[in-house]
Amino acid sequence: MKTIFEKSIPGRRSTRPVASDVPTKAKLAPNLLRKQPAALPELSELDVVRHFTGLSRLNFGVDTGFYPLGSCTMKYNPKLAEVVGRNPGFAMLHPLLPQLPGGEIMVQGALAVLYEMDRLLSEISGMAGFTMQPLAGAHGELTGVLIIAAYHKDRGNHKKTILIPDSAHGTNPASAAIAGFTVKTIPSSEDGLLDVEALEAALDDDVAGLMLTCPNTLGLTHPRIKEITDLVHAVDGLVYCDGANTNAMLGRCRPGDVGFDVVHINLHKTFATPHGGGGPGAGPVGVVEKLMPYLPVSVVRERQDGTYYLEYDHPKSIGYMSPFYGNFAVILKAYTYLLMVGSEGLPRISGNAVLNANYVLARLREHYEYPVKSKQPCKHECVLSAVRQAKSGVRALDIAKTLMDYGFHSPTIYFPLTVKECIMIEPTETESKEMLDAFCDAMIDIARIADENPESLHDTPRSTPVSRLDEVKAAKELDVASY
Ligand SMILES: *Cc1c(COP(=O)(O)O)cnc(C)c1O
Repeated sequence: MKTIFEKSIPGRRSTRPVASDVPTKAKLAPNLLRKQPAALPELSELDVVRHFTGLSRLNFGVDTGFYPLGSCTMKYNPKLAEVVGRNPGFAMLHPLLPQLPGGEIMVQGALAVLYEMDRLLSEISGMAGFTMQPLAGAHGELTGVLIIAAYHKDRGNHKKTILIPDSAHGTNPASAAIAGFTVKTIPSSEDGLLDVEALEAALDDDVAGLMLTCPNTLGLTHPRIKEITDLVHAVDGLVYCDGANTNAMLGRCRPGDVGFDVVHINLHKTFATPHGGGGPGAGPVGVVEKLMPYLPVSVVRERQDGTYYLEYDHPKSIGYMSPFYGNFAVILKAYTYLLMVGSEGLPRISGNAVLNANYVLARLREHYEYPVKSKQPCKHECVLSAVRQAKSGVRALDIAKTLMDYGFHSPTIYFPLTVKECIMIEPTETESKEMLDAFCDAMIDIARIADENPESLHDTPRSTPVSRLDEVKAAKELDVASY
């Protein structure tokens, strides 16, 4: 592909305004003037429009095609939420807006959104209260683990260990380590679920808490969850729910009802706000009543007269986790989404997310290895393995790259780490049966080619301007067309 500079034709112009008949008043000092004209590309307006529209079409996004990235929940982002997010009454607010005489009247609407979002998320997850400050799921984890640390410090507990199952997202051990804890890994049992006996063996007075992903990264829920939280509570440990993938639970079950003490949820996954390329996101954290004093400041409160204010007087708070109130626009879009779907929409979201994942699994499981021994249906995502294809040299990476030639974004691959040649598919609830069928047809076709002509899958994709890149180099040398 040519750059816009390479497309330049000397002398080509777009609009030609007539010569100005307004007399020039002030002139720039000669030492500020260019010696030579700027080396800008010379093109017509149509050339420029086509160039950039063409570039935008090389990008892949939820708005252009099916994006079954397991664990990341790339679902439809309703455009109405964008309209509300762009409303000048919200978009033009500044967090330091002067308070008018008589109160924070200028930002009452924004405070109401933060307050109501706290109430809605608390109701959905069974928690006592939320902070909206964390800027991503991983940031929410760090917030939650710092709250766990503050709780133990307050009680005079000297606990240094956080338990995490081997199937967890890598951010879990990273967050616990940054908060100063030692991480101990608990193995999964044969069925892909946390091994309760191994957990019991690891529980002692040094255990500050357990971080558990719900549903786990194999898309499974733990049938002994209440027993697990009771066991951890018995050593005065707290139980953290990684609720980044709440899509499977919405409106059906609540972490707070089965003994979780802290939960983070990803608005940019479950609550349909856009994400990708590193942000912006939001990972609000909810806690049970006894942990409320440790939440970050400030906290939005409601007065008797129905107005809102920011409360800072929380001596046990872990402090600020982000400037001001978090990614306000993301929270606002998620709030809009929640009002759109309503309480009756929540179980439909989770129902269809689970149905779609099971449909994909049912169509693909005779063509790919299903590595999960558990008999339960999968939840919001299904995990397959390319071990069968790998025998003829076709790896999960080859399958992922080939899917691009069929017009699909790749699923998540090589995660969770507990599954060899892992392919993790999350269709989400917003895809139609026609789309799921087209994707499954492509996956089945690729499995056939892997049997008949495995070599041909090593240099895919062929339909893109560049094919297989050295991914480390590509991140450092952005001119990927040059190598
Ligand atoms: C996405 C995800 C995270 C991290 O969320 P980010 O917003 O990417 O920081 C943590 N745990 C699980 C299970 C996830 O899927």
